[in-house]
Amino acid sequence: MLRVKYCKDDVIASSDGSSCSNTWRWFSLGARLLKKGMKWRVGNGDSIKFWTNAWVPNFSPLLVHAILPLSIEQVHENVADYLMSSEWKVHKLIGVLPWGVIQSILSIHVDINHGVPDKAIWGLSKNGDFSVRSAYELHFEKDDVPLWEWSFIWKLNLPPKVSHFLWILLHGKLLTNDHRAIEGLTMDISCDRCKAGCENVEHVFRGCNGVIDIWEDIWKGVSKNVLFNAEWKDWLLQNLKRNRIVINKWSNYLIFAVALWFIWKGRCEHVFNANFKLPTSLGKVILTYVVDWFSSTNTLDKGVFRDDNYNWLGGFAMNKGVGSAIEAEMSGIFEGKSLAWKAGYKKLVIETDSMSAVHLLNATLPQNHHLFSIAQACRNFMEEDWSCLICHGYRESNRVAGSLANLGHSLDLGTSVFERPPPRFPFFSMKI
Ligand SMILES: [Zn+2]
Repeated sequence: MLRVKYCKDDVIASSDGSSCSNTWRWFSLGARLLKKGMKWRVGNGDSIKFWTNAWVPNFSPLLVHAILPLSIEQVHENVADYLMSSEWKVHKLIGVLPWGVIQSILSIHVDINHGVPDKAIWGLSKNGDFSVRSAYELHFEKDDVPLWEWSFIWKLNLPPKVSHFLWILLHGKLLTNDHRAIEGLTMDISCDRCKAGCENVEHVFRGCNGVIDIWEDIWKGVSKNVLFNAEWKDWLLQNLKRNRIVINKWSNYLIFAVALWFIWKGRCEHVFNANFKLPTSLGKVILTYVVDWFSSTNTLDKGVFRDDNYNWLGGFAMNKGVGSAIEAEMSGIFEGKSLAWKAGYKKLVIETDSMSAVHLLNATLPQNHHLFSIAQACRNFMEEDWSCLICHGYRESNRVAGSLANLGHSLDLGTSVFERPPPRFPFFSMKI
């Protein structure tokens, strides 16, 4: 019954679904552990894939250790293809694998002549027999222990989908073709775009045709040495930890992470969509995305109080963290009204550059509208014992408010009130 329910084409289905019974979850966990703990014992080398099976003691599949790109033919080769009369063909290995790996291969005894078949054995015991204890230890062994603590990426101000993508990338789970080959999902490890070599993560993000152009486009004037002189993981770490503002007000890590995500997106589009054409200037697309995302999610608003002659009476700027732009605008209006009310003003004309905010405040919103509560709070204020009007105006015409907006990005969360114009903006003293 279990076989009918969960096995498709003799492959055990995932146990992640909530509909699985506990019995099946244990079956499935056991199957995964079995797969992880099994190793090949070399006999005549006919049944073992040289590059994609785990058969060298203490080493994962050799594909990940290759120092040169492999051809498709190579990936298909069996262990027997590297043997000649029970001797290893060392010349086929030198320069393709690190010497330490080659030495481990050479230490493996093979005997083609007696035709002993290859055999899958339990790799965690000396006698090759399965033991519950070793499986238990394997279960609690950490999967891919990262070289660094990557959890800092969750604290970066990034689009959530980019954060998730980074997590997958940094934990070695991105399904590049070399990874897919190890998982048995493909036999072709070459890159679909440039048709060259082995498509691993480093190739996708630093080596493939056109990728260097994208980085240069983003970091104009930075030489290739600076861009690529670090080792792959160091390169990722350095760029993601770099908070320095590189372009306008956007941090290096934000542009870097979004660029990685776009490059991967472009790679997947290319693989799965025959008609896909990469934009000619992906660098520009990436920067535009960063600008749009930043301005739509960093919700801060500001206001300036002025008298009839446009003299400064007071100002405020709010940094509301991450949210929608319209929500920020509405809370800015509410905050301005509260401050004006507390200051005892009896006549208030609110000028906002958000047409949507004006519309929302003049409309009757249904109670289940997601902005009902803030709109209602604003309306209640308007009905107090004072003259309060709201109208549409363009922020560009108001340099003071615009400058407060820029200031707001560096403020702590919450509202900052300025009784006097901030000194760092000399034009505040001007009558506008
Ligand atoms: Zn490529």
